Amino acid sequence: MSQGPPTHSDLGLDYAEPEETQVKRCEELWFDDGNVVLQVGHAQFRVHKSILSRQSTVFRDMFALPQPNDTSDWVDGCPVIIMSGDRAEDWEMVLSTFVYRVTTMSTTSLIVPKVAAMVHLGRKYEFGRLYQEVVDLFIVKFPNYLLAYDNNTENFEIWVIRNIAGILAIAEEAGLWSVLPVVYYMALTCQRFKDDLGIFSPSLNIPAHHLRCLINGRIKLCRAVVEYKFNWAAELWESDGSPPPICTKAESCHKVRSKIVKKAFDQLGYGIRQALGKWTETVDDSHALCEKCRRYGRRQFENGREKIWSQLGFFFFDDDWEDMIDQDTDILPTGWRT
Ligand SMILES: [Zn+2]
Repeated sequence: MSQGPPTHSDLGLDYAEPEETQVKRCEELWFDDGNVVLQVGHAQFRVHKSILSRQSTVFRDMFALPQPNDTSDWVDGCPVIIMSGDRAEDWEMVLSTFVYRVTTMSTTSLIVPKVAAMVHLGRKYEFGRLYQEVVDLFIVKFPNYLLAYDNNTENFEIWVIRNIAGILAIAEEAGLWSVLPVVYYMALTCQRFKDDLGIFSPSLNIPAHHLRCLINGRIKLCRAVVEYKFNWAAELWESDGSPPPICTKAESCHKVRSKIVKKAFDQLGYGIRQALGKWTETVDDSHALCEKCRRYGRRQFENGREKIWSQLGFFFFDDDWEDMIDQDTDILPTGWRT
């Protein structure tokens, strides 16, 4: 390791000669009083060092270093910094946010490619505030406690499935493990999955390591629905005629419970929505039960729902989830490494 102050190369940034013939200025992000030009691929942005410095420790450190003496490659009196390995459209989105303070980022209008750009460049160039802002929004969108999930009235499962590959990539890049079980669950609830290919549809572009988790989780969720949420109906139903002590309408309750269990099984073939579905949404025949059976069933059902929520991560990741709950971990789930 060399000692002494960092160089531009140490910081991963370089002043270099732009290929002028192919270069195109981005008019929206070309300011006459800008004092530095960023070149990404063939796109150039003329912006202000002060803005970049305020947002990024990497740029702050770079601009604190003396500029090169050779100014022959400068453009309009500005040094040109080549941003290698980046995409121009990502920089355009991030710079627009800084310059125009585009505040359209909200949980209701998350644009996945924009979030991906912010997470990617935010990590690479240490745009601390921007990075934290989008990460926080993501966590709000995919909460890790049940009350927040229930209060999240937006019905955005379609949005999730349309953007599934991008959402998973963002969570993975940012190490946001806590959001994955909720994202997976939403993907599995999507009605589209009752179609032939479901999660295997090539158009969804779900990477294989995520598919493995989805398949693993789906099987376990199906079992959990029956065991945790409908065991009360099945167990009383199997008691074969002898009226349960709590029941006041044994014969008719027996029929209703049979119907409820049958419906639960039937619906497992279509998405997995009932795993976290509420009593009122899932058990539409409950009104036909006697009051005692209804109360008993509802209590069991709701306990089962909470149990499923608390184990959601384990359904998809097995014992790896124990390590992943610690958000600082860099360890990838075992299922992803094989
Ligand atoms: Zn009853």
